[in-house]
Order: sequence, then C-alpha cells, then structure tokens
Amino acid sequence: MQIDFSKIPEPLIAKSKSELNASIILFRAVHYKWLIKTGRVIIPYILWIPGMKWAIKKTVFKHFCGGETLTETKNVVENLAKYHVNAISDYSAEQADTREKQEETKKNILESIQFAGTQKNVPFACVKITGICARPLLEKISANEPLTAEETKMKQDFLERLDALCAAADQQGKKFFIDAEETWINPAINEAAEMMMAKYNKEKHVVYTTIQFYTKDSVAYLQRLIDTAPYKVALKLVRGAYHEQENERAAKMGYPTPIVENREAADASYNAGLRLCIDHLDKVSFCAATHNADSLSLLINMMEERNISAGSDVISFSQLYGMRDNLTYNLAGRGYNVSKYIPYGPVKETLPYLIRRAEENAGIGDQMGEELQLLQRAKKEKRLS
Ligand SMILES: Cc1cc2nc3c(=O)[nH]c(=O)nc-3n(C[C@H](O)[C@H](O)[C@H](O)COP(=O)(O)OP(=O)(O)OC[C@H]3O[C@@H](n4cnc5c(N)ncnc54)[C@H](O)[C@@H]3O)c2cc1C
Repeated sequence: MQIDFSKIPEPLIAKSKSELNASIILFRAVHYKWLIKTGRVIIPYILWIPGMKWAIKKTVFKHFCGGETLTETKNVVENLAKYHVNAISDYSAEQADTREKQEETKKNILESIQFAGTQKNVPFACVKITGICARPLLEKISANEPLTAEETKMKQDFLERLDALCAAADQQGKKFFIDAEETWINPAINEAAEMMMAKYNKEKHVVYTTIQFYTKDSVAYLQRLIDTAPYKVALKLVRGAYHEQENERAAKMGYPTPIVENREAADASYNAGLRLCIDHLDKVSFCAATHNADSLSLLINMMEERNISAGSDVISFSQLYGMRDNLTYNLAGRGYNVSKYIPYGPVKETLPYLIRRAEENAGIGDQMGEELQLLQRAKKEKRLS
C-alpha cells in the first residue's frame, strides 16, 4: 500500500510559530545560489567577526544540526523516539589534517558509540573518513601512488583508528556507517571499508559502506561486491552530495567526469541499486538514505511484493535532520525502520556540512520548493489546529 508522503506530520505542526518562521526564512534565503556561493568562499574566513558564529548557530546550524555537543543532541534523540524514529549521531568533523585532530575526532565518535549503547533508538553510529585521516594521504592512496615510510605509518594509524571505531560499535551491538566522499578519495575509503566488512561482517552486518549512485561505476561496483565479497555486504545507498564539485574538478583538470550525465540517470542508477540489493538479501543488508519519494515508494512496493515486513532489520531508511520530515514520520507511522542523521559538533567544524546542505537546497529548484512548501503548509495547519 502506498504511503501518502504529502501528509504533514504531527511533529512539524507541533513546532512553535517562530521556529517555523525561522526555517521558512532560511529556505527562502538558500534559494539564492549566488548567496550560497559567496558564503561558501567567505564564511570560513569571517567566523571571527563578532556575532557571526552566533548568527550561524541561531539559523542554519539550528535547523540542520542537533547541537554542538552530544549532550545537546540528547533532546532531539529523545523527541524522535516518541515518534518511533531512530537517530544516528553524526560527529561532523571532516577537515582533520593533523594527528591531534584525527585523534580528537576518533574520541568524539567513540563517545557517540557509547551514547548509542545507552539509547534504544540509536541503532547506528557513523564516521566521515576525512575526520580521522588526512585528505592528502587519502588522495595519494586513491591514486595508487607509492607512500613514503611516514605516510605508510600514517595509513596504519588511520586503519587502527577506524578499526577501534568498528570494534566499539560491534561491542555495543550497533551498526556502523562509513560515509562516502569525493571520488578522488573514495578508492582509499572503499578499500578501508572493505577491510572492515571482511573483519566484522563474517556472520552479521556490522560495518556499512556507502555507494554514491550518481557515479558511473556505482552499479558495477555494487554487483562486484555482491558477486565476490566473502562476507556479508552492508550498504548505505545515496545519490551523492558532491556532483557540482566533481564536475567542476573534472572540467578543470581535463578528465571525463565520473558523474552520470543527468538527474534522470542518477535516479535510474539509484533505483537499479535498490533492485540489486533487494534481490540479494541472503547476503546484503542496506539502508536507503534518500529524500526521494519515488525511490522510497519503489522500495516499499518491492518489499510488499516480496512479503518483507516493514520492520525488517535488513532494510532501513534514513533522512537528514532538518530535511524531509514528511518522509521520515510517515514511514515511521507505518512501522518502517527509519532514522534521522543528526550532525553535531562545534559550529566551525560543521561548516562544510552546512554549506553542502545549503548548496543542495539552492541547486535543485524543485527540492527547495518542496521543503519550503512543506514548512508553509505546516504553518497553515498550525493556524487551523
Ligand atoms: C541519511 C543520509 C546519509 C547520507 N550520506 C551520504 C554520504 O555518505 N555521502 C554522500 O555523498 N552523500 C550522502 N548523503 C547525501 C545524498 O547523497 C544526497 O546529497 C541527498 O540526500 C540528496 O539525494 P536524494 O537521494 O535525496 O535525491 P534527490 O533529492 O531526489 O536528488 C538530488 C540528488 O540527485 C543527484 N543529481 C541531481 N542532479 C544531478 C545531475 N545533473 N547529474 C547527476 N546527479 C544529479 C545528486 O546526487 C543530488 O544530490 C546522505 C543522505 C542521507 C539522507
């Protein structure tokens, strides 16, 4: 049975008028692409200006992040639990170029895993690899360039950090997502993720790698994993968050873009990924991490055709905090296993994430429209209730 995703969920109507107004103003502002492009360049340099950090914290940060600390996200997690929505605390550091910062990120993620252990509705933890390994090293590994002795040691340290995180998640009985990033560092990320799956997924799905279906080779990579991996394959399926940067870099450096030719091709590829996964549930567990109602409906139909229960623990759904509450709450209302990714961390650390979210909402005309429409409809229903 289809889900009516247009239904305004109760928690959105329950927001205060001022909260709804603030979100409406935010989504109107991010519509201006030039504003976002300028912000992306200047904000990291002007954060020291008095009031700037405060302004970001009260607006875009408040909408898309759970707080600056894990403790601050606790209210959000508990609130989601009331509506049968799971939570994934996502420590948002992705620019850790020094050993000190990488260790600090590891410590923060370990804390988020311990926290998950105390919360029934936090089944997953996650890592962005650029938070625990230097980006230039990931680039070098991905390009298959020989490493110096010092770099080999840095790689070993990175793998030990990742291993410690996977082990902690396993001990807590939680699952662990490894996020995908740009294609020029993803080969190193995939290699590490496959190593961890080989170690932790012998009997159960613990470590989840991420596949970006806007890349040309995504479906072939998924097929190869399914055909050849001697362990249980666990996946987070996304379309991908960096398509503009990918196309820009490819054009600048003169190589063919790794991204499919258009939006329709990205949709077709994502849906092919869903079909492949659902046809191999003997080996695969997956999370459909998407805001796309058509892909969600396709997956729900396929689950029903195969008599897979909504609460299946091998298929889950996820959306980002501050986006598409209509999808999340309507899925939860029908018993699907759905979660929100809740980024948290110091404002400065979350800036790349916030800029990506703003760009995403500026770049896709109708998506911005839908999010804004949703908030405006919630405000109207609030007035009537
Ligand atoms: C829980 C969760 C976890 C995530 N984790 C990651 C992650 O680890 N790594 C990551 O990269 N992203 C991640 N994302 C972000 C995700 O990749 C998308 O940016 C975002 O969710 C929008 O994609 P969508 O499936 O919701 O599709 P829609 O909103 O329906 O479509 C937008 C997407 O389509 C694709 N697209 C649009 N136009 C074009 C075009 N012209 N050519 C090619 N493709 C195009 C892009 O991927 C764009 O983001 C995550 C998202 C969620 C919800």
